[in-house]
Amino acid sequence: MNIRDLIQRVRNRFKPHEELSNEAVLGFLRVLEEARVDELSCAEIYSKLDEYVECEIDCKDAAHVMPLIREHLDLCAECCEEYEALLDVMEHMNDTGNEQVHSGKSAL
Ligand SMILES: [Zn+2]
Repeated sequence: MNIRDLIQRVRNRFKPHEELSNEAVLGFLRVLEEARVDELSCAEIYSKLDEYVECEIDCKDAAHVMPLIREHLDLCAECCEEYEALLDVMEHMNDTGNEQVHSGKSAL
């Protein structure tokens, strides 16, 4: 068998005369569109910032758990400022919380 026959066979298999329908093209474009929406808006960051900071304080690996938020914080000064303020507040709350836990344990 020569290479031309092989190419012809492959061509036949993929039915080159059948054009892509508009639906198929639109569907493909929609997939691309959704992939781009992966980027989160500031509003979405705000709504998840407390969760992110909590995670950061708990496991110190929030950037790995929520990489999209970390990415946004790197790019958006506004959200980053908010994040640092929240981190500051929550670290303080965490200290107080630990003290309460300790006193609760000693009371038992
Ligand atoms: Zn932002």
